[in-house]
Amino acid sequence: MIVDYHMHTARCGHADGSVEDMVEAAIDKGLRQVGIADHAPMLYADVPMLAMSPDELPSYVDEVLQAKEKYRGRIEVRLGIEADYHAPTQGERVSMIELYPFDYVIGSVHVLGDWIFDNPADVGRYEDIDLDDFYVEYIHTVREMAESGFYNIVGHPDLVKKFDKRAAINLIPRYRELLEAVKRAGMCYEVNTAGLRWPAREIYPEPAFVHLAAEIGVPVTFGSDAHCPEDVARDFDQALALVRGAGYREVATFQGRIMSCVPLPEGQPPDEHGHDDQGGDE
Ligand code: ZN
Ligand code: FE
Ligand code: FE
Ligand code: ZN
Repeated sequence: MIVDYHMHTARCGHADGSVEDMVEAAIDKGLRQVGIADHAPMLYADVPMLAMSPDELPSYVDEVLQAKEKYRGRIEVRLGIEADYHAPTQGERVSMIELYPFDYVIGSVHVLGDWIFDNPADVGRYEDIDLDDFYVEYIHTVREMAESGFYNIVGHPDLVKKFDKRAAINLIPRYRELLEAVKRAGMCYEVNTAGLRWPAREIYPEPAFVHLAAEIGVPVTFGSDAHCPEDVARDFDQALALVRGAGYREVATFQGRIMSCVPLPEGQPPDEHGHDDQGGDE
């Protein structure tokens, strides 16, 4: 089996599609399990274009829980959320999320200091920084996220490459430290195909990270980071080939914040089987 555990809805202010639209796209792609993981309220900033506001969280949860019931027997729907890691607001974030029955929480670092570095509106700031220092600080912050013990999945592990601003230093020793912390925390990471749709033109994380993670024994799951129904499970043929090539035979799934690993499909992923209504959309 393969799952898509990372997708957004119109509620976050920069995506198209309701929860049901995303679930139906997943059914059309042939998935048997799907997870919605919209952007949690940021708490460190109030930008309606970047995430739902705190008062929208209860209705988000309700909508996903209703979809779980509605689609039972056709597809398993998981209640996820993509939450930032941001140390100064962490206590508030944890108490907010713990109020709801999430199946998993994706931990994503999108902000360093006061810079939301993956926001296209703020891309000019890359001109003012030392890229090597920036990568090191980012990887260190992702490690802190893992060590906080709150999250289940490392979101887009090398998001810093999104705009194709690359570090010159060897990142492997830092990835190793990070992955050892991820393993100790009992977490997995996601192979996220959205990187293919940004200037990086590469899946998150890079192949060397995936191979190292497989060697260390860190489980993996999958996310398209779809912000519209058309992108659900997009490029999962490439994601599956990468993961299989690194030696993985299982995908991590979650229910009630508990991980269980299930075998990956042997053949091509579902979106390559040529469903009549979706054929050739890539
Ligand atoms: Zn988004
Ligand atoms: Fe993200
Ligand atoms: Fe996302
Ligand atoms: Zn994301």
